[in-house]
Amino acid sequence: MSAQILEGISLRDATIQRLSAKIKTLSVQPALTVIQIGSRTDSNAYIKAKKAFGEKIGARVLHEVLPEKVTTSEVVAQIKKHNADHSVQGIIVQLPLPTHLDQHTIIDSIDPKKDVDGLTSTHTQELWEDGSEIVLPATTRGILSLLDCYQIPVEGKKVVIVGRSVLVGKPTALAFLNRNATVTICHRGTKNLEEETRRADILIVAIGRAHFITKDFVREGQVVIDVGINTVSDGRLQEEVGKRKLVGDVDFESVSKIVSAISPVPGGVGAMTVASLFENLLDMIGE
Ligand code: NAP
Repeated sequence: MSAQILEGISLRDATIQRLSAKIKTLSVQPALTVIQIGSRTDSNAYIKAKKAFGEKIGARVLHEVLPEKVTTSEVVAQIKKHNADHSVQGIIVQLPLPTHLDQHTIIDSIDPKKDVDGLTSTHTQELWEDGSEIVLPATTRGILSLLDCYQIPVEGKKVVIVGRSVLVGKPTALAFLNRNATVTICHRGTKNLEEETRRADILIVAIGRAHFITKDFVREGQVVIDVGINTVSDGRLQEEVGKRKLVGDVDFESVSKIVSAISPVPGGVGAMTVASLFENLLDMIGE
């Protein structure tokens, strides 16, 4: 039996309609500043997607590029300028940063009221405490929106998350915990990973390894959410973005024959991540 496909494209398109209708009613045109440091090819592609989405809904996306060798204090100074700019309601710093920079200091210099990525200490603490003002990181919000859209309940479910990054794995684990799921987080140190993943009702994979989760990691009846975005060519990983084919961390071909529902790559969580970022932006405006 084949799995139900948890398709993000149509949900994203519906979000575009909803957000553009909402923006027409606002007293301000929403504006998001994206700060990029250096010129990583993957970051260029993600920023391009943000600009395209912003254009579709009628939001402004301002793109500021700082040189690769910029210092932490120079980045912070730029962020403070944007914090003080009342025509901009959202600021994001495109990650990952060059390794010489202090990511924590940089992210935490964003005014929490403009932190649409939900990564400042203020929002992280709210997530820890399950406060009422939670701004979820876009990928986490995208995963939850996808499940909600397909009316897949989370409460009481056993959720296994493979990957514990600050950007995806950890905030997603907390968000599911706050929704009363029973959460297990797996990583490179996890023993018997296959046993852990097979125990899940909902399996979320965010590791960045093409087709890592094969049929041996899953069982019938599971919901599988593939967050991974990997580039492959002719079955081999490769760097050139021009010729790239995107695949997930899950071997869709074999896994989709076993589980009950699965999100594809591309067209699953990735489609919802950009949409969720702009949902956060409109929430910040709060009209
Ligand atoms: P990351 O910071 O590199 O973290 C990867 C995590 O996976 C780490 O916690 C690592 O464990 C774990 N891991 C790696 N190999 C493993 C293995 N063999 N067994 C068990 N755990 C393993 O990556 P990330 O930023 O979270 O991103 C993960 C993937 O999601 C990437 O493909 C990225 O492109 C994608 N992504 C997609 C979206 C979207 O919108 N769809 C958004 C963000 C990221 P350790 O901690 O033990 O090293």
